Amino acid sequence: MTPASAQTPSSAHPTRVAVLGAAGRMGAAACRAVEDADDLELVARIGRGDDLNAVAEAGAEVAIDLTVPSATADNVAWLIDHGIHAVVGTTGWSEESLEALRERLAGAEGVGVLIAPNFAIGAVLAMRFAEVAARYYDSAEIIEMHHENKLDAPSGTARHTAAAIARGRAAAGLGPVPDATEKDPDGARGAVVDGIHVHAVRQRGLVAHEVVQFGGVGEQFVLRHDSFDRISFMPGVLLGVREVASHPGLTVGLDGFMDLG
Ligand code: NAP
Repeated sequence: MTPASAQTPSSAHPTRVAVLGAAGRMGAAACRAVEDADDLELVARIGRGDDLNAVAEAGAEVAIDLTVPSATADNVAWLIDHGIHAVVGTTGWSEESLEALRERLAGAEGVGVLIAPNFAIGAVLAMRFAEVAARYYDSAEIIEMHHENKLDAPSGTARHTAAAIARGRAAAGLGPVPDATEKDPDGARGAVVDGIHVHAVRQRGLVAHEVVQFGGVGEQFVLRHDSFDRISFMPGVLLGVREVASHPGLTVGLDGFMDLG
């Protein structure tokens, strides 16, 4: 289909926002956050099986996708084709699916899509700080901890943190992390993402937590971020909603909308 022209939020009226996955834990929190914001108006709540045409019919300018990994790519493709900016917190995006998104966006001038593996400001900062610290330490490992209902592992945040550490190590000319393990038949050393070991804990009572451990001779440096409540993600969600129309194309990571130097 011919892509619709991008919706342009105006300061004359509150930005019209739709939430996809509105009945979920994150979606419900996002609906409340949008309703509580004076400059935003919640115009559509979409759940599994609902017709996406309701988003366009409600005149949504921005849609927040907080659904499931199996649905998000189709949802975002539909939003792009209808000229609706997308703020996406759903995880499970691969390099291939991001590339497909870039290609689709190339034919949809003015449409912005933010894929944010983590909306918590502290988690975004931890990823950035990890890239800086990675240059100075021989060893680096990630432990991510989430509630027992999380569908994917390791978390999107852990993947992006591993990528950030790998970039930092490459910039400093560091080789592989030292590790003498020869025998690990049960995978005790965890997954390896971009050369960095990542350990995923799933435990009732947790929300979203990440520890990044760096080791050097005679010292350890630890970065830790804890989201104790889903409300911690909402300032980032709202930042994404307010900024996405001014960032056409694909932005991966909320730091793309933050002035981190
Ligand atoms: P959740 O409670 O399971 O909510 C997902 C909701 O999406 C459910 O209500 C589900 O309906 C609905 N849904 C499924 N397919 C849909 C579709 N095609 N269209 C519309 N709605 C659909 O999960 P959650 O904890 O809210 O998390 C949602 C996503 O956000 C997950 O991918 C999670 O990893 C991610 N997340 C991101 C961040 C971040 O900061 N970026 C933070 C926390 C979580 P049913 O119940 O009927 O299946």
